[in-house]
Amino acid sequence: MYDWEELIKACTVCKRCGLANTRTNIVMGRGNKDAKLMLIGEGPGEQEDLQGVAFVGAAGKLLDLLLKAMMIKDDQYYIANIVKCRPPGNRAPTDGEAEKCLPLLRNQVYLIKPKIIVCLGAVAMKYIVDRDACITRIRGQWIERKGYWIMPTFHPAALLRDESKKILMWEDFKKVKQRLDSICQNQSN
Ligand code: URA
Repeated sequence: MYDWEELIKACTVCKRCGLANTRTNIVMGRGNKDAKLMLIGEGPGEQEDLQGVAFVGAAGKLLDLLLKAMMIKDDQYYIANIVKCRPPGNRAPTDGEAEKCLPLLRNQVYLIKPKIIVCLGAVAMKYIVDRDACITRIRGQWIERKGYWIMPTFHPAALLRDESKKILMWEDFKKVKQRLDSICQNQSN
């Protein structure tokens, strides 16, 4: 496993897949590297690619609003993606691209050591939880695996397309907030 400095270096020079040819910047993630909560999305979009920062576009702004409304503070989470380079035209990463990138994400999870992992959308769920599961069926249910509490939910971009998902995602995040609070409480006692 790499330390943070080595990992960032490895990602910066990474040519494991074809996304390296079209990226402007790698996108490691953003937030507190010691957070108990880690959110994982799909892959950088146009704005993220240009700025080298995760979730800064429309979906990220919506996610920020949700987290704020849920009273989850900026220093309580870290947010990253399945792939660190933008798939052209915002398509989903291919299996090959995701598989090449996953060891780097696993390294990141190892360094952050979150207690809770939220999979944002079907792509994150596919590579973290279950290749064959359906996000609308398994969202909102805790999965305990290798010492992590995993919560699959919708991707914030899905809310931009379908307002009816908002209430469901809110319910999922209520569960996340509850568990996060109890983890933080146990640690301060
Ligand atoms: N969508 C994602 O899945 N990740 C980002 O960083 C931005 C949009």
